[in-house]
Amino acid sequence: MTIETRTTVELSDINAVEFECRKCGTKTVRKIDGNYVTPVACDNCKEQWFLGLGPESGELGHFIERIGYYSGKGFPYLLRLQIAKESDEQRERRIARFTQQRILG
Ligand SMILES: [Zn+2]
Repeated sequence: MTIETRTTVELSDINAVEFECRKCGTKTVRKIDGNYVTPVACDNCKEQWFLGLGPESGELGHFIERIGYYSGKGFPYLLRLQIAKESDEQRERRIARFTQQRILG
Protein backbone atom coordinates (compact mmCIF):
# COMPACT_ATOMS: atom_id res chain seq x y z
CA MET A 1 0.00 0.00 0.00
CA THR A 2 1.25 3.46 -0.86
CA ILE A 3 0.05 6.50 1.03
CA GLU A 4 0.49 9.87 -0.60
CA THR A 5 0.16 13.00 1.49
CA ARG A 6 -0.69 16.19 -0.34
CA THR A 7 -1.07 19.64 1.14
CA THR A 8 -3.47 22.04 -0.49
CA VAL A 9 -4.60 25.54 0.34
CA GLU A 10 -8.11 26.62 -0.48
CA LEU A 11 -8.18 30.10 -2.01
CA SER A 12 -10.67 31.29 0.63
CA ASP A 13 -8.01 30.49 3.26
CA ILE A 14 -5.63 33.01 1.69
CA ASN A 15 -6.31 36.42 3.18
CA ALA A 16 -2.97 38.16 2.69
CA VAL A 17 0.23 38.02 0.67
CA GLU A 18 3.72 38.46 2.03
CA PHE A 19 6.53 40.16 0.16
CA GLU A 20 10.06 39.45 1.40
CA CYS A 21 12.80 41.78 0.26
CA ARG A 22 15.64 39.78 -1.28
CA LYS A 23 18.08 42.54 -0.30
CA CYS A 24 17.40 42.97 3.43
CA GLY A 25 14.90 40.21 4.28
CA THR A 26 12.20 42.55 5.58
CA LYS A 27 8.70 41.19 5.15
CA THR A 28 5.72 43.27 4.12
CA VAL A 29 2.21 41.83 4.39
CA ARG A 30 -0.74 43.12 2.40
CA LYS A 31 -4.29 41.94 3.04
CA ILE A 32 -6.26 40.73 0.05
CA ASP A 33 -9.34 42.89 0.20
CA GLY A 34 -10.89 45.64 -1.83
CA ASN A 35 -8.07 48.00 -0.85
CA TYR A 36 -5.09 45.87 -1.96
CA VAL A 37 -2.17 47.90 -3.33
CA THR A 38 1.09 46.29 -4.47
CA PRO A 39 4.06 47.82 -2.62
CA VAL A 40 6.49 49.40 -5.07
CA ALA A 41 9.51 49.32 -2.72
CA CYS A 42 10.78 47.67 0.45
CA ASP A 43 9.40 49.37 3.56
CA ASN A 44 12.81 49.07 5.23
CA CYS A 45 15.71 49.54 2.78
CA LYS A 46 13.63 51.23 0.05
CA GLU A 47 14.91 48.80 -2.63
CA GLN A 48 12.66 49.46 -5.60
CA TRP A 49 10.58 46.42 -6.57
CA PHE A 50 8.50 47.98 -9.32
CA LEU A 51 8.70 51.03 -11.50
CA GLY A 52 5.85 53.03 -10.01
CA LEU A 53 2.44 51.73 -10.93
CA GLY A 54 3.63 50.25 -14.22
CA PRO A 55 2.40 47.13 -15.99
CA GLU A 56 4.30 44.63 -13.82
CA SER A 57 2.88 45.86 -10.52
CA GLY A 58 -0.52 46.15 -12.19
CA GLU A 59 -0.40 42.54 -13.39
CA LEU A 60 0.65 41.31 -9.96
CA GLY A 61 -2.12 43.34 -8.32
CA HIS A 62 -4.63 41.90 -10.79
CA PHE A 63 -3.39 38.36 -10.08
CA ILE A 64 -3.72 38.87 -6.32
CA GLU A 65 -7.18 40.39 -6.64
CA ARG A 66 -8.19 37.33 -8.70
CA ILE A 67 -7.31 35.12 -5.73
CA GLY A 68 -10.00 36.94 -3.76
CA TYR A 69 -12.43 36.76 -6.67
CA TYR A 70 -12.04 33.02 -7.28
CA SER A 71 -12.28 32.23 -3.58
CA GLY A 72 -15.87 33.47 -3.61
CA LYS A 73 -18.92 31.26 -3.33
CA GLY A 74 -20.23 32.06 -6.80
CA PHE A 75 -18.59 29.09 -8.50
CA PRO A 76 -19.60 25.43 -8.70
CA TYR A 77 -16.09 24.35 -7.66
CA LEU A 78 -13.51 24.98 -4.96
CA LEU A 79 -10.10 25.99 -6.24
CA ARG A 80 -7.08 24.89 -4.21
CA LEU A 81 -3.36 25.37 -4.65
CA GLN A 82 -1.20 22.35 -4.02
CA ILE A 83 1.93 22.89 -1.99
CA ALA A 84 5.09 21.19 -3.27
CA LYS A 85 6.34 18.36 -1.13
CA GLU A 86 9.12 19.48 1.19
CA SER A 87 12.33 17.59 1.62
CA ASP A 88 13.41 16.92 5.21
CA GLU A 89 16.09 19.61 4.79
CA GLN A 90 13.56 22.18 3.53
CA ARG A 91 11.24 21.36 6.42
CA GLU A 92 14.01 21.78 8.99
CA ARG A 93 15.04 25.13 7.48
CA ARG A 94 11.41 26.35 7.47
CA ILE A 95 10.93 25.37 11.12
CA ALA A 96 14.25 27.00 12.07
CA ARG A 97 13.22 30.23 10.28
CA PHE A 98 9.81 30.17 11.99
CA THR A 99 11.41 29.58 15.39
CA GLN A 100 13.90 32.40 14.80
CA GLN A 101 11.07 34.77 13.83
CA ARG A 102 9.16 33.84 17.01
CA ILE A 103 12.24 34.50 19.16
CA LEU A 104 13.03 37.82 17.46
CA GLY A 105 9.39 38.83 17.59
ZN1 LIG B 1 14.70 45.66 1.84
